[in-house]
Amino acid sequence: MLKILENIFKNITSKPYTSNYPFTPYQHFPGTRADVTFDGTKCILCQLCQRSCPAECIIIHKEETTVEYLNTQCIRCGYCVRVCPTNAISQNEVYTKPSKERLTVYTLVTNENAPIIKKRKAEAAKKAATAEGKPVTDKPEEAKK
Ligand code: SF4
Ligand code: SF4
Repeated sequence: MLKILENIFKNITSKPYTSNYPFTPYQHFPGTRADVTFDGTKCILCQLCQRSCPAECIIIHKEETTVEYLNTQCIRCGYCVRVCPTNAISQNEVYTKPSKERLTVYTLVTNENAPIIKKRKAEAAKKAATAEGKPVTDKPEEAKK
C-alpha cells in the first residue's frame, strides 16, 4: 500500500515522459540514424557500401563516377556508414517524409584518389605527352629526366 502511494506521489509530482507533440517540436534521441548522405570528395568507388547494404539501395556506377542512393528503399541500418573506408558516408537525424514516388539521390564522385579517376587522369596526361612529342612513361620521375 505504501509503495502504491509512493508511486502515485511520484507520478503526480514528476514531469510527463511524453512530449506534447505537435505543440512541442519533436526532439531526436541522441544517436538517431536517419537519412544517408555521400561525400563525393571522399568516396573512392570501392563498392564496399553497395555490397554491405541489405536493402540493395546503393548502386556504384564506376564508369559514370556516381553513387546512386535509393532513399525511399533505405532501412537506415547504418551498415554502409560502418564499412566505408574513407568516411564518405554519414547519417544525419532527419528523415525524408514517406512518399509514393521512388526518391533517388545521385552523388558525383570527384575524389582524385579514386582508382578510376586516377587512371583516367594518367591516360589523359599520357595522351597529352604523346601529342606534344614528349617521352611517355608510367613512372612520373622518369618523365622528368
Ligand atoms: S543505411 Fe543500411 S539500408 Fe540504408 S543505404 Fe546504408 S546499408 Fe543500405
Ligand atoms: S561511399 Fe565509401 S564504401 Fe561506398 S564506394 Fe565510396 S568509398 Fe567505398
